[in-house]
Amino acid sequence: MAAYDSQAGTCLGIDLGGTGIKGAVVNREGELKYQLSVRTPVEEGREGILRALFSLITELMHEAQEPVAGIGIGSAGRIDPVTGTILAAANLPGCAGTPLAKLIHEKFGIPVHVDNDVNAAAIGELWAGALGDIQSFAFVALGTGVGGALVNEGRLIYGERGAAGEVGHMILKPGGTLCGCGQRGCLEQYVSGTALNRAAQAVHPEWNSHRLIQQCAEGHPAALEVIDQFVKDLSSALITLHNLLDPGAIVLGGGLTASSSVWWSRLEEALSAMSPKKSVTVRAAQAGNQAGMIGAAGLVFSRLT
Ligand SMILES: [Zn+2]
Repeated sequence: MAAYDSQAGTCLGIDLGGTGIKGAVVNREGELKYQLSVRTPVEEGREGILRALFSLITELMHEAQEPVAGIGIGSAGRIDPVTGTILAAANLPGCAGTPLAKLIHEKFGIPVHVDNDVNAAAIGELWAGALGDIQSFAFVALGTGVGGALVNEGRLIYGERGAAGEVGHMILKPGGTLCGCGQRGCLEQYVSGTALNRAAQAVHPEWNSHRLIQQCAEGHPAALEVIDQFVKDLSSALITLHNLLDPGAIVLGGGLTASSSVWWSRLEEALSAMSPKKSVTVRAAQAGNQAGMIGAAGLVFSRLT
């Protein structure tokens, strides 16, 4: 097995999610040299999830064929980035309170950094995406829920409790739909995949968000109405982010961006209609589902120098 060497040219980058655990050997150029993924055994709870994670790390370290300098993990849930502890994670049953960085460090003996998966993906976009010279940006992940990360001059903004960038819980509609976070009217209730599924079913009981998007492409009036509301709601949040942060760009990632050819131009139109005097720059994420792995490795690399 590869041994620890702080000058080594590779780190492991791991994306720990509720569906799958993806990992890669990543070099200092942000290139993935070897990739592995396994299903997350959520039904086995914490012990099963840790077993799957440890065995993936062991195999990656074996495949690295050279010393590995550290292990970076982007995990679902709320993470304390200082201690690397999972504070809460609805999609990783039994894992709340797990001191993940400590457990991995004890087992493998090399530096470990654990961060939130959206933070890792944002750093992945910075490192390996298409941001050019932009160092300050907001990252918004439109998936089952809505995640966010804020990067200022190349560094993540964590806030007092590590929870900065919770874009999905900005209140868009006071008194609106109840959110899992306890508030009403959060952005996540209007522009996530879950929200689009709900809106699609309101149009037709057998539709989901994929069907809705298909129908938009075919010009179905009720489907287009839903998408127009979606881009207006999203624009409203993006304009708020722009005004708060003055970012070089707002990068949109997550599963919903796979359908963005249907709504991207509508989003740009809504942004300029709602904020005619400002130029709110939006970009599509480029590193795709590799962003989390690349960024997790980047975060641990940046702590080794
Ligand atoms: Zn909320």
